[in-house]
Amino acid sequence: MFENLSDRLTSVFTNLRSKGRLSEADINATAREIRVALLEADVALPVVKDFIARIKERAQGSEVSQALNPAQQVVKIVNDELIEILGGETRRVRFAKTPPTVIMLAGLQGAGKTTLAGKLARWLREEGHTPLLVACDLQRPNAVQQLQVMGERAGVAVYAPEPGNGVGDPVRVAQASIAEAKRAQHDVVIIDTAGRLGIDSEMMQQAIDIRRATEPEEVLFVVDAMVGQDAVNTAQAFMDGVGFDGVVLTKLDGDARGGAALSVRQITGRPIMFASTGEKLEDFDLFHPDRMAGRILDMGDILTLIEQAQRTFDEEQTARMADKLASGEDFTLEDFLDQMMMIRKMGPIGNLLGMLPGMGQMRQQVNQIDDRDLDRVAAIIRSMTPGERSDPKIINGSRRSRIAKGSGVTVGEVNSLVTRFFQAQKMMKSMAGGMGIPGMPGTRR
Ligand code: GDP
Repeated sequence: MFENLSDRLTSVFTNLRSKGRLSEADINATAREIRVALLEADVALPVVKDFIARIKERAQGSEVSQALNPAQQVVKIVNDELIEILGGETRRVRFAKTPPTVIMLAGLQGAGKTTLAGKLARWLREEGHTPLLVACDLQRPNAVQQLQVMGERAGVAVYAPEPGNGVGDPVRVAQASIAEAKRAQHDVVIIDTAGRLGIDSEMMQQAIDIRRATEPEEVLFVVDAMVGQDAVNTAQAFMDGVGFDGVVLTKLDGDARGGAALSVRQITGRPIMFASTGEKLEDFDLFHPDRMAGRILDMGDILTLIEQAQRTFDEEQTARMADKLASGEDFTLEDFLDQMMMIRKMGPIGNLLGMLPGMGQMRQQVNQIDDRDLDRVAAIIRSMTPGERSDPKIINGSRRSRIAKGSGVTVGEVNSLVTRFFQAQKMMKSMAGGMGIPGMPGTRR
């Protein structure tokens, strides 16, 4: 996700970090490089212009000139402004006072609407709701059947016109689904509508009619992030046509550039509410502007990581991990091993490591990581005594050879693990003290 942009920005900041004071020329050069990075990411020109103007204005002000570390201050400014263009606060779903809450999906064919309907239904169900999926895409062959499959996988009910009734009237289906939701006590209705390959007045009219007939709390515009700037043009057309309250970006997993994500909010004035990052129903979450900015700037996405961990592990275990991450103080090899084993259970290692700070630059190595390497590391740590694990500084030469023998590896491998551990420990410390992890006890922010 956003690898290209992330690499570019990280290298801009790496150059900047070597400087103590920043001259006006330094700031201008940095602004220029950020501008090129954003344009290459396919961010809409007006958005880039505004962004650069704000960065420059703030970078020339006293918050940078008086900062102890001006380069870091510039990174902070870019982070703040990225959060801003991504929408600021996380926008959550508005629920109706009297159920059912109607959520209508609109977007072009192939944007990922039907898949998304299933993901949203599953997500809502996990949040304690009882959604009803409604098939109003009566144009695309198999769309109804596809939604039924989604409903089955998500474990939620699907409302669809009886087969064999000809094409059917999507507006009537939508209206009838609300009556059905009331009858069967579904508190949320998710309406999947028909899309076309391009903007089409008939499709738009149908969406407008469904909107009028069902008065949704939320009309969500679903768009494929991989189409970059085109997403912004399509968004504009839907804004002018049916109108919408929020955006859902799909296929973010395949989007190396990030142009759509960074432009759509400012161009349409509507926030990104959800992000879809794969074909599986679980590849879906609320869109958090602050976490996304952190990822783009390679500051890691510790919160998402912790949430994923929470889904996999018991609370006590994750609370302990969060505390360690936040304090950085007594992060030991035991914790290192614990974390590694937790991560191992959470899924493919490359995806997860991508969320850790500083890993962006190591992407190539990360991609080469073999899950079996983790098992070797685990074996090494398990060959250590409890004392060595909690205070790795005591691991001298003779201890290293004993550990190597015990775990069937070379002394070189033990050395490299110990070095990596000290680096990780340092990273934990600087992260917890310097940046602050939002929502975590014991950190500044
Ligand atoms: P619709 O025409 O808008 O209903 O689109 P579909 O839901 O049928 O999705 C079109 C294709 O995109 C399908 O092959 C989906 O599996 C795929 N797809 C949907 N969302 C995502 C996503 O977030 N990531 C990836 N990689 N593929 C997706």
